[in-house]
Amino acid sequence: MGTSVTALTERLADLATGAWLDTARVTGVSRLSPELVRVELTADAFRKATWVPGSKIQFRPRRGTMALRTYTPVAWDTERGVTELVAFTHGDGPAAEWFRQVSVGDPCELFGPRRSIDLREPGGPVIFVGDESSVALACALHTVTDDVTHVFEAGDPAGLADVLPVLGIAGRVAVVPKTADRADLLRRAREAAAAGPATLVVTGDAATVHAVRRDSRGWPRAPRQVKGKAYWAAGRTGLD
Ligand SMILES: Cc1cc2nc3c(=O)[nH]c(=O)nc-3n(C[C@H](O)[C@H](O)[C@H](O)COP(=O)(O)OP(=O)(O)OC[C@H]3O[C@@H](n4cnc5c(N)ncnc54)[C@H](O)[C@@H]3O)c2cc1C
Repeated sequence: MGTSVTALTERLADLATGAWLDTARVTGVSRLSPELVRVELTADAFRKATWVPGSKIQFRPRRGTMALRTYTPVAWDTERGVTELVAFTHGDGPAAEWFRQVSVGDPCELFGPRRSIDLREPGGPVIFVGDESSVALACALHTVTDDVTHVFEAGDPAGLADVLPVLGIAGRVAVVPKTADRADLLRRAREAAAAGPATLVVTGDAATVHAVRRDSRGWPRAPRQVKGKAYWAAGRTGLD
């Protein structure tokens, strides 16, 4: 009885969610490090999409549930119907698990792209602050401008610093260890701001986004504009 109710619930979740999700195929997987993976997705539906750098897709990592997880396309090729994601496989959430096990030929149920951060026309230099979950956004920004100073925090700074150039993120890049007070991260961002008014783009850990936003209010040269978004928060699942 219990099993059949569960099976029915899963079937209903599949029907309800499947009606508004597109199915893409995984056409490429590249393990960039033990914790970062780049995945290429191909779908006919992608040919009709309108992509804005910084926008998001949402996908269903587990059939039989309605839980969605949010990721950032690195770029979008409408002619070929192809996009790419870069995922941080931290922890044992459903998305991290999906990305850890993904292989070429797998289906991926998703919808999007939909607006999130809009990186078009950053209007001058950009200070980009983020973490491992923000790497794809840095790549998306790279399609718009190279005038960027990056400051990343990471659990494994050396590992992330090795991966970034492979993705074309080079030049003004600092990767600092993640610490509770974020002192080094805030100092580096403030130093970058001393060069002149810039657009601040900050994503990743909700607590970091909050701390950087607050600190930027005291910068001698205030940011021209702030584009900030929490990508995840300790103890919370599936932020959108
Ligand atoms: C607009 C938007 C765009 C995003 N783009 C990307 C992207 O391109 N690449 C990417 O890797 N992530 C991205 N994220 C973050 C990603 O959606 C979350 O990390 C998501 O929670 C992962 O799902 P999960 O099923 O693995 O873990 P969940 O089930 O959501 O969470 C399980 C546990 O892991 C913790 N957790 C979740 N993410 C992290 C993390 N990054 N570091 C440490 N602990 C974490 C949670 O607090 C929770 O305790 C984006 C988020 C948003 C809102």
